[in-house]
Amino acid sequence: MRIGILGGGQLGRMIALAARPLGHSVVVLEAAEEIPSAVASDVILAAYDDEAALDELARRSDVVTCEFESVPPTALARIAAAGVPVRPAPEAFRIASDRWLEKSMFRELGLATAPFEAVDDQASLDAAVERIGLPAVLKTRRNGYDGKGQLVLRTAADVEGAFAKLRSVPMILEGFVAFERELSIVAARGLDGTVVFYDVVENIHVDGILHRTNAPASHLRDAIVEEADRAARLILERLDYVGVIAIELFEDEAGLRINEIAPRVHNSGHWTIEGAATSQFENHVRAITGAPLGVTTLRAPSTMINLVGLIPDANAVLAVADAHLHLYDKRPKPGRKVGHVTVVGGDPDPIERLAKRA
Ligand code: AMP
Repeated sequence: MRIGILGGGQLGRMIALAARPLGHSVVVLEAAEEIPSAVASDVILAAYDDEAALDELARRSDVVTCEFESVPPTALARIAAAGVPVRPAPEAFRIASDRWLEKSMFRELGLATAPFEAVDDQASLDAAVERIGLPAVLKTRRNGYDGKGQLVLRTAADVEGAFAKLRSVPMILEGFVAFERELSIVAARGLDGTVVFYDVVENIHVDGILHRTNAPASHLRDAIVEEADRAARLILERLDYVGVIAIELFEDEAGLRINEIAPRVHNSGHWTIEGAATSQFENHVRAITGAPLGVTTLRAPSTMINLVGLIPDANAVLAVADAHLHLYDKRPKPGRKVGHVTVVGGDPDPIERLAKRA
């Protein structure tokens, strides 16, 4: 099939690299100067709201998917109106791009989250703080990622003027979760409704950016895995979802709370390229093209370490037993993800030392 992707970054690249051996071709729509996916795809160089470019993408695709979540809804609607299926469907993006809609969906499904309330001005913020208490986290409803667009409120003084500080309406106030660790689950749902889950993993962030994923998370209780699988299945079915999804979770004494979903392949699933029987990228491709999903079994405990802002010496990485290097053809800049390394069944410490961020 001909797969169209909105976005040509590293996620698009790894989707394209998984699609080609299955006999598919890939075309991406991307406006950025650097297009990591270009190694395995054609490129339509244009903005996501360029109507002629969207029409061209629709014309050149049998199915369209996205590698990021803040896709303009009009872009997806235009492609769907051209008769080309968008998978996952636009509804998943509508909900995932708005923290309030997202958390309201979790609540409707009976899934545990931090307490939350919509905030539209300083007065509703004050009222929400009254009910939820401090500490709390004030977040923009839209366009927040990697910890951007949020503010932890600890004291009454923090609450004063906090609404003006984020300079964005609307927002959401969440109770602060004193979590023990952050987990995530990557799952996939096929066109026929089949659902598969990868192992629940632990994610360690540095400066708000994912640094390391341990697959599986250590000392996982069965109840946690069951709850993560149950949450993933409920969300996938509620959204009539087709493709790979990631669900970010907080673990505390009480169990799991759902933080957010990413309606796409996810950084915390990169380890699956070598660490699982079928990668998240291949399963995304299988799902959106209507193929049977692949087995998600863990091959061996794996660690994924992101390369942020700096590319280490490749041979030094490759000298580490069981280390697999993935570079994205991106120029290093502070805070920018330029690649990752997965260590399968071995010791990740040497990679930790090589991956010291810029
Ligand atoms: P998010 O943009 O929602 O993924 O938040 C980014 C990071 O902020 C998360 O990975 C957590 O480390 C932290 N965080 C977000 N929401 C909360 C919360 N309600 N309580 C405590 N920490 C949070």
